[in-house]
Formats: sequence, structure tokens, C-alpha cells
Amino acid sequence: NSTLSSTLFSVRKNDCTDTCYDNDTVTPFLSGSGGVSSISPLYDWSQINDIIHIIPRNKITVQRMIGKGAFGEVYYGLLADVARLQTPLPVAIKMLPSLCSEQSKSEFFVEAVLLSKLRHPNIVKFLGISIDENSLYLLLELMEGGDLKSFVRECRLNGDVPSKVSIYDLLNLCIDVAKGCEYLEQNRFIHRDIAARNCLLSEKGPNRVAKIADFGMTKNVFRTNYYRKNGKAMVPVKWMPPEAFHDGVFTTKTDVWGFGIILWEVFTLGRIPYPGKSNNEVMTFVAKGGRLDKPDQCSQETYSLMCNCWMNKPEDRPNFRNITEELIQIQKNSDLLKERITNEKISRDYNVAE
Ligand code: ADP
Repeated sequence: NSTLSSTLFSVRKNDCTDTCYDNDTVTPFLSGSGGVSSISPLYDWSQINDIIHIIPRNKITVQRMIGKGAFGEVYYGLLADVARLQTPLPVAIKMLPSLCSEQSKSEFFVEAVLLSKLRHPNIVKFLGISIDENSLYLLLELMEGGDLKSFVRECRLNGDVPSKVSIYDLLNLCIDVAKGCEYLEQNRFIHRDIAARNCLLSEKGPNRVAKIADFGMTKNVFRTNYYRKNGKAMVPVKWMPPEAFHDGVFTTKTDVWGFGIILWEVFTLGRIPYPGKSNNEVMTFVAKGGRLDKPDQCSQETYSLMCNCWMNKPEDRPNFRNITEELIQIQKNSDLLKERITNEKISRDYNVAE
């Protein structure tokens, strides 16, 4: 499994020119141990229960590319003959190119098998795989709102026009992600790459729901509760706690740290964490107790929650059940949160070019 992860991250590093990834999202790991425009009608996903996991290729129509990931490209397509649906279902198709290593293929299957086990409103729904002699497809629920990081960046102010979101809306997105994480925690999955770029939105409009995606690094730790990573791999240091980047130890509290970084990403409207610091500098800074500053937009309560997610000892960090409850409480506490973000409230920082 560790070789599978190394493959993923080696590919990711080469992928750094892709706008999905910050240039220093990943760094070599030596010690220890992936927006669509609105096109489809809304479907009731809860009714689509009987989809067979192996989908015949002739049921799939591939239409256009909507994203690029570590393995290959992601396309918008249509799936015909879905039970109880009169019209073809719009889907996202992750394609593994015909020329790829055996390792990429295994990694691809690992993600498919993991995804097929997960069912939750805040986890991107897996529909099945399709195999022919030339290519492998992984079919997923279509998330028309694109990734969370790009979405919050689009919410930055444009001149005097108020942002399209309020703090209340931002908290909604965080609560969605926390609920998805709570489900993973209950089922003893460690995602290991919890970051705003890996959460997708059902739509950009007011009914948007955030869901966790990109399970390429996820591990099931049913027996041990932790996962120890060996060997050399590329890892997202800015989203990781010290015990993960120093000792390669991953527990569900590793994801809690990453979730704290997501809160910071959301409330800064998509800034890159630790602005101006390299991954090595971040490791030193964090190990010495340094933490990200409070975003101007967020309340003291929300920042305290972030800081709790970044406690040095994993056992001192809250679990996802506490985090969800706390965020719901913070959201209930103030009606002012429904006001849209305006020029007076926005920090200068959000408008700096990054
Ligand atoms: P990888 O796991 O290979 O890194 P991702 O899962 O991150 O690939 O996908 C790369 C990009 O493709 C995403 O940032 C997003 O823009 C798009 N994408 C992925 N899955 C979906 C989906 N289910 N619906 C819509 N777009 C998607």
C-alpha cells in the first residue's frame, strides 16, 4: 500500500502546474513511514441504490473534460438505463489512460473499492467502474459546483459588489465537510488528504452541499486505529500535523488537523496556508508551536476551534462529532452571520494576488 501512495504523490508532484494544486502542496517524504457549469437537472441520489458496480461501456457516453487529477482526466458524461430514471444520468467519469503503470491501475482500483463501501450525503457517491481492453473508468456522482477551494476563491470581492456568500454559508460548507469526516471517523477510515481542493460542491447556488472526494490516499484502520507510512512519498505537509510529517503516524486525529486547515482555507476565501513559507519552513515552524493566524472574517469561537484541531498532542484534538456540534452551535449563535461579506468586513489580505 505504501508503494501505491508513493506512486500517487510522485505523479502529483509533476502535476503541480495544474491550477488545482498549489505549487508547494506536496513535498518529498523521507522519514518513517484530485467546476463544472450547470447542465443537469437535480436527481434524488438516495433513490439510485441499485447501480451495478461494473457498468457496461455501451451505457456510457463521454462528452467533455471537466477536470484533471493525479491519475488522468475527469469527464462529464451520461449514463443510460439507470433504474427508475427516464433520461440518462449526468455523471463524472475519472479515466485512467490506456498507457499507465500497473501501480496506477492498482491505485485506481483501491479508490474504487474504498468508495464503493462509503455511503453518506457528504461523501461523493460512487456509481461503479467500467473496464474494457483499452481503458478504465470510475463513475462518480456529478458535482457541478467544482472544488471547495476554487469556489471560496470565486467568493472574493469584486470591486464594491458584495460577495455571493455570507459567513453563515461558509459555516454550512464546513459543517458539511465535518459531517462527512464524522462518518469516516465512525467507520474507521483515515482520508489522509483532507484539504479544500479535495472537497467538491453539488452546485454553486444556495442549495450547494459540500462532499468529500479524492480517496486515493484513504486507509481503513479497522484493526489498528492508526496507519504507519514507510518509505518515500510525496505528502501535503501544510495540511499535516507534526506526528504525521515527522513519524509517519496517521490516525483519525490527522484528519482533524487537516480539517482545521480547511476551516482556515474557507475563512480566508482560499488562501494558501502559511503564506510565503516553504514546506520545510512550515515543518520547523509547526514543530516549534507556530500556528496559522486568525482570519479576519472568522469569529474568536471559530478560530479557537481551528486551534483545537491543531493541538500538538493528537489526543488533545476534538473528534469530528464534537467539531460538527461546535460548528452548528457557532452558526446558531449569531444572526449577523447571514449578512453577506462586504468591503468593510473583508480583510485586505483576501484581495492580494496569490
Ligand atoms: P485525482 O484523484 O486524480 O487527483 P480528482 O478526484 O482530484 O482527481 O479530480 C480532479 C478534478 O476533476 C477535480 O478538481 C474536479 O474539478 C474534477 N472532478 C473530480 N471528480 C468530480 C466529480 N465527481 N464531479 C465533478 N467534477 C469532478
